[in-house]
Amino acid sequence: MTAETKLFMCLKDNYGVLVHDPGSGATAAIDAPEAAPVEAALKATGWRLSDILVTHHHGDHTGGIAELKGRHKCRVVAPAAEASKIPLVDETVREGDQVSVGKLSANVIETPGHTAGHITYWFGADKLAFAGDTLFSIGCGRVIEGTPEMLWASLLKLRQLPGDTRVYCGHEYTLANIKFAQTIEPGNAALKARAAQAQKQIADGQWTIPTTIDEEKAANPFLRADVPAVATSVGLAGKPAAEVFAEIRARKNKF
Ligand SMILES: [Zn+2]
Repeated sequence: MTAETKLFMCLKDNYGVLVHDPGSGATAAIDAPEAAPVEAALKATGWRLSDILVTHHHGDHTGGIAELKGRHKCRVVAPAAEASKIPLVDETVREGDQVSVGKLSANVIETPGHTAGHITYWFGADKLAFAGDTLFSIGCGRVIEGTPEMLWASLLKLRQLPGDTRVYCGHEYTLANIKFAQTIEPGNAALKARAAQAQKQIADGQWTIPTTIDEEKAANPFLRADVPAVATSVGLAGKPAAEVFAEIRARKNKF
C-alpha cells in the first residue's frame, strides 16, 4: 500500500510530518519538535503513533520525544552517532540500514554536515525523502558540526535520488532561501518560476513543501555548485565544486 503523509507546523517555523501505512495502521513521526502539534495531527487523522524517526539531535527536532513516548509507547529510532544526545532511543541506525514502519520501508542515508551524525530517511517504494535540516527547498542547513565539504557530499547523495522523489525538510525557509538564491543565479528561469509558485503558495496559506529532487536540481544553488555558471557567478570559475559550495554557504550565512 502507498504511504500517506500529514504535514503540519511546530514551534516557530519547524515542520512536523507523519508517515502512515494504511495497511497495518503504523504511523511514524519524522522528528518531534514538540508534542502538542503531533497529537493534534494524530487526532485529525485518527492515526496511531507507532514510531518516531529522528534525523538529528537538535532540540527543535527532539523536544517532543519524551512526552510522545510516555503517552504512545512508540519506538524511537535515531542516528547511531547522535543517540547519546537524543532522549529515550530504542534503536540506532547507520548508513544502509532499513527501518520499517508497518509494511513501509525506509533506507538510512547518512547526510552529515549540519550535525556530525545527521541522517535522511528514504522510503524508496514511495519515493519519499525526509531530509531534516540537510536539504531545504532552495536551501540547505547551516554547517554547524561538520565541514562544507561534508555537507556538499551529503547533498550529492540526495541529488542522486530519483527526480520525482518528494522531499520533506525540517523548516519553512523557502521564501528567504529564494531571495538569497536569486543573488547567485538571477537569470535562472526555474528559480524564477519557483519564486512565483512559492509566493502564491504562501499567500494562499499553503505549504511550500514537499519539494522534489528535480525542482531542487534546477533551482537550488546549493545543489548546483558544480554548474560552471554558478562557479563563475561567485568568482570561482574552474574551481572544485566543494569550494564553490563553501563560498555559497558562507555568503548565505552573511545574507
Ligand atoms: Zn538542526
